[in-house]
Amino acid sequence: MSNEVEMLRIDGAQGEGGGQVLRSSLALAGLTGRPVELSRIRAGRQKSGLLRQHLTAVRAAAEVTGATVEGAELRSAWLRFTPGPIRGGTYHLAVGTAGSATLVCQTVLPLLLAADGPSTLVFEGGTHNPAAPPYDFLEAVYFPLLRRMGAQVEARMERAGFYPAGGGRFVLEVAPGRPGPVPPLARAGAPVFEAWAMSAGLAVTVAKRELAVVRDALGISREAATIRRVEAPGRGNVVHIRVTDGDAVELVTAFGAVGRPAEVVAAEAVEEALRFVDLGAPVGEHLADMLVLLVGLYGGAFETGVWSLHASTNLAIVQAFLGADAVQAEERGGRWYVARP
Ligand code: ATP
Repeated sequence: MSNEVEMLRIDGAQGEGGGQVLRSSLALAGLTGRPVELSRIRAGRQKSGLLRQHLTAVRAAAEVTGATVEGAELRSAWLRFTPGPIRGGTYHLAVGTAGSATLVCQTVLPLLLAADGPSTLVFEGGTHNPAAPPYDFLEAVYFPLLRRMGAQVEARMERAGFYPAGGGRFVLEVAPGRPGPVPPLARAGAPVFEAWAMSAGLAVTVAKRELAVVRDALGISREAATIRRVEAPGRGNVVHIRVTDGDAVELVTAFGAVGRPAEVVAAEAVEEALRFVDLGAPVGEHLADMLVLLVGLYGGAFETGVWSLHASTNLAIVQAFLGADAVQAEERGGRWYVARP
């Protein structure tokens, strides 16, 4: 009889059909020690298969777990990943384009919490990309929540990397230790707003105009709305608004772009912040899909007002690795409740 663990087969085209199926599978394969074979990777995307960002995530997960990997090539739609033991250490993970470095970070972080020693990671690539968590989201929302769960995680951004130039850099220090469950999060019904307009290589008037719109719409003071001029290889601009309400923290982001007036960018951020306030649930849309994985791994529960295709896809992947009992989601009165039953 063989001692080999059976290969898990994951269809990369399921649900959202994007990079998240791959990233969650890599993390879960590494944590469970279960080999995984992915087919039809990112079939739901116009440019399907592994792009640089995804390939960096594969190589990162392979390095950290000493995995053997087949199919790790640009545009490959198929991958076989056979992990070994998770090793702490010093890792340099460069996406090499403006591809999101924060998504690579999210792939390896759960692995390093289960490593045999501490780790220092240097990430290079995009830090502020549309359709990925901006570095500020990790710093304001994701890392603080992990710390509340008992994880020892410290990070600092050394250089911003805006789309399309990329070239950002941040450092993450992780001490191993299994986090506790996702803690109960409750809103207090008294949201506090803080905003910052971040820019590189642009006239300061852009950020000033953005913050004038945000202050006016949300009634916040000058002290709570700050300009952050950052170092970056290319030009870039984002508006962040942090909403803190009881235990709930959300960070919304609007991206500046050539031809988009500062006022339009700021108004988009305001609208998103107010939408979070109106929904009344403690967990926002993006955090929800990330927390599905954390509830599956560490237990706990949360409630969200938006159940995205990303969230339901992640749920299916987590259940494929950990079983349907690890995490379940249920809708009641327009809210979604996710818990370890
Ligand atoms: P692709 O699907 O093209 O491979 P991808 O690899 O960049 O794209 P997705 O599968 O789309 O990744 O996943 C993107 C992740 O980024 C999701 O977890 C999503 O919630 C998160 N995200 C997107 N926008 C934001 C945002 N503004 N703030 C925080 N998180 C975000």
